Amino acid sequence: MRDRWNATEAPPPGDALASCVYGSRLLGAEAALVLHGGGNTSVKATATDITGEPVEVLYVKGSGWDLATIEPAGFAPLRLAAVRRLLTLERLDDATMMGELRCASLRADAPDPSVESLLHALLPYPAVQHSHADALIALTNQPEPEALVREVYGGDVVVVPYVMPGFDLARACARIFPEQATPETVGMVLLNHGLFTFGADTEQAYRRHIALISRAERFLAERVAPRPAAEGPTPTVGHLRLARLRRDISDAAGAPMITSRHDDARIRTFVSRPNLASVATRGPATPDHVIRTKRVPLVGDDVSGYAAAYRGYFDDHRDRAAVPRTMLDPAPRVLLDPAFGMVTAGRRARDADIAYDIYSHTIDIIDNAEGIGTYTALPAADLFDVEYWDLEQAKLHRGGRPPEFAGEVALVTGAASGIGRACAQALLDRGAAVAGLDVDARVAEVSDRPDYLGIEVDVTDAPAVDAAIAGAVERFGGVDVVVAAAGIFGAGAPLAELDLAGWRRTMAVNVDAIAHLFSRVHPLLALAPRGGRVVVIGSRNVPAPGPGAAAYSASKAAVTQLARVAALEWASDGIRVNTVHPDAVFDTGLWTDDVIAARARHYGLTVEQYKRRNLLSAEITSAQVGKLVATLCSDAFAVTTGAQIPVDGGSDRVV
Ligand code: ZN
Repeated sequence: MRDRWNATEAPPPGDALASCVYGSRLLGAEAALVLHGGGNTSVKATATDITGEPVEVLYVKGSGWDLATIEPAGFAPLRLAAVRRLLTLERLDDATMMGELRCASLRADAPDPSVESLLHALLPYPAVQHSHADALIALTNQPEPEALVREVYGGDVVVVPYVMPGFDLARACARIFPEQATPETVGMVLLNHGLFTFGADTEQAYRRHIALISRAERFLAERVAPRPAAEGPTPTVGHLRLARLRRDISDAAGAPMITSRHDDARIRTFVSRPNLASVATRGPATPDHVIRTKRVPLVGDDVSGYAAAYRGYFDDHRDRAAVPRTMLDPAPRVLLDPAFGMVTAGRRARDADIAYDIYSHTIDIIDNAEGIGTYTALPAADLFDVEYWDLEQAKLHRGGRPPEFAGEVALVTGAASGIGRACAQALLDRGAAVAGLDVDARVAEVSDRPDYLGIEVDVTDAPAVDAAIAGAVERFGGVDVVVAAAGIFGAGAPLAELDLAGWRRTMAVNVDAIAHLFSRVHPLLALAPRGGRVVVIGSRNVPAPGPGAAAYSASKAAVTQLARVAALEWASDGIRVNTVHPDAVFDTGLWTDDVIAARARHYGLTVEQYKRRNLLSAEITSAQVGKLVATLCSDAFAVTTGAQIPVDGGSDRVV
């Protein structure tokens, strides 16, 4: 484990909180130490309260902050004496404990302190660091973990058996630590949980952390033979099979889910283990993972069998909770299968990505644990306690209601600019995952969110479009919404001067490409958990054509007719197909200043008059079109198909 402490970058040792922030970020920079909000740190220092009175403060990591990016404001400043006084209680439920910790804060706007705050408070050292390091977990997730921990660390650490985090764990540590600690003690190992180190300052606590983890890593490296890589070609999974799997997972969850497929040499080696079904179903590496990955992955692809087993697990343990619990959805979050590789699932792309990160580290932990012994996880009852813990439930619910398109996937063509980009943005804003296609490389830059995938592709290149659709399904699991926005205007010219090549090019992009796209996305849309939706960007030119734009007007009329046929053919599959007819949306790639000026001249108007040449004298923006398109895909239009909706400020030639 690399020691990242850099004396020239580190703040002066006298600034305890700044040193703690720096050391926390170093811990957070290493995924093999902490993942996604895991781990916590603290430092004890003297501060002054509002009256100028000196007060001993425990600065402890606030929940909701990630160690990798934490700032001073991410630490809750707690009155140390008040926190330590709680340890004299015999019993304290977690909700009351959290209330007491909040009351001990010097700042009303401080974040909620870590649930492990009491543990930090009781350790008699100024600086404390805590991780759930992979190498340590491989040692502790064993049938006889204490012997292994002693073999690696001797008497340098205190060893505490598994107790659920919260007041009871703090009480157990308060009892065990003084019994075992010596002047040589540098750390505390919590079995099936993680490592605490401490010191006179954060640098010492951090360096001890790195040293102890390095010792575990060396021990594993000496004992564990590298596993032979899986042989043979990587199987390919058709994207329809993936979309069917996502549909099954969404049905089990009772809501649309995002699924992502991962398949590299390491995963392939793991899923080809002869004892995969055994090692993968013993339980998570640490109990907090249960929130993200559920207790066990699904091995194979029997989603309904998994859901039935989950209901059984809930029924077996529901009476453990003091207050009645409502069952969480029974859908798997991690699937392991020799054909699929690893598939992770979540309500949003980020959730599926977190499940992937966690299970990716779990693979290392299981391989190492099996290399030195037998990978062993906690009994199901202990994991149920964490999965259905009030405080963990609160973390999940803090996000509030999911946005309206959460778990749904939209494919938008022409997404790099103009109306296509506005549609992609509107769908992202309402929670959809979006695959944006465009011939323009800027399609990659539309959004850096995990639920956006930009694919550079020419929509007239049929095999490339097929590959782009497959890529979207690998990343998000399916396609529920299609917005056909890619289009070209071409040079305006009278029919008598028809340029046949230009005509054919316009038809290829505006009609042929959409016909091909429709033929390919239909089976995916038919599998959409909430029903497929298609929106075609037509044009006001369809009901009210203009002279000099024959190819454009004819192509948009053709694609409008195509959408009407799709509405007829696909209604029985639950797929809605509608068309919007924008006009005069000038903030798009179709309209150069020259084209606008030429059209204005054609009608004998100024550019400004031409832009607002509609009944409402409104300027029409691509954002307005995007908003309409997203709304057309929403429940507001649940019973509308085959419609054509103008978005043009009102046209006296149409109304
Ligand atoms: Zn912990």
